Amino acid sequence: MSTTNNTPTAPNETFKEFLESTPPEIIVVVADAFETESTTQGHRWVLAGPELEIHCPSDSCNGVRFFRRTNCDVYVSTKGWHTGFVTYICRNCSRSRKVYALGVEKAEDRPVGRVYKYGELPTFGPSIPARVITLIGPDRDHFLLGRRAENHGLGIGAFAYYRRVVENQKGRIIKEIARVAKKLGASPEVLQDFEKAATETQFKTAIDDIKAGLPSVLMIEGHNPLTLLHTALSEGLHEEDDKTCLELAQSIRTVLTELAERMSSVLKDQQELHSAVSKLLNRKASQASPASIPDEKGK
Ligand SMILES: [Zn+2]
Repeated sequence: MSTTNNTPTAPNETFKEFLESTPPEIIVVVADAFETESTTQGHRWVLAGPELEIHCPSDSCNGVRFFRRTNCDVYVSTKGWHTGFVTYICRNCSRSRKVYALGVEKAEDRPVGRVYKYGELPTFGPSIPARVITLIGPDRDHFLLGRRAENHGLGIGAFAYYRRVVENQKGRIIKEIARVAKKLGASPEVLQDFEKAATETQFKTAIDDIKAGLPSVLMIEGHNPLTLLHTALSEGLHEEDDKTCLELAQSIRTVLTELAERMSSVLKDQQELHSAVSKLLNRKASQASPASIPDEKGK
């Protein structure tokens, strides 16, 4: 492995922190990367296997859970770099796995060493809820490329991908918001505004068209989510530097995620409400004997 372009960054990072939150392709000095294991001849150094707290995407977990190591084939010696795979499994559901491809270098008779992450699966970075992927539909691949760029700190790249996603899918997003508005009882006039806005090419005009009809439950900290997206997109166009573009890209992803979560939650609540009411009505109907059900005139 070439190490000439990589300088150690965080000398006091723990191995747990490195596995949980350091992006791939950075060499890090870790204080507790190795530990000793007893053998018949005394002891030998092995790669440490700390318990991790990472996101579990399974249906039953869907949140941060403890993961334990199930496999490690990284050989450890004091002579140069060694590479291999480490596998973790969720302690809660025993279903989700996380696999790391690592390089490690141990120089002396101490737990400290240099570590490098070639990659990990599922990919490093914030988890992307399935609802966001559904919301942006056909631009799924651009969105995932945007996240990849974001994870590597490539601000201009991430911003460009996310901008493409929002501009291509703004009509689809507006149609989804209309679906929520309809569920919440929006008037035919408001729904007509949404229909017109969904085909509007100017994002700003589309936002103005539906400003009044936007369900308040979708507002993010009191702001129209589409205005937030539009502001982020307009700012990034002014030849901003990489760091600013990265911040804007993160904001775009966060707003899209929050919007998708809120819409799905409203639709789910409405569905639950509907099925609860139906169940109660059916119960009432089945409890009453056929003869005693009054007809409309008898009420
Ligand atoms: Zn789990």
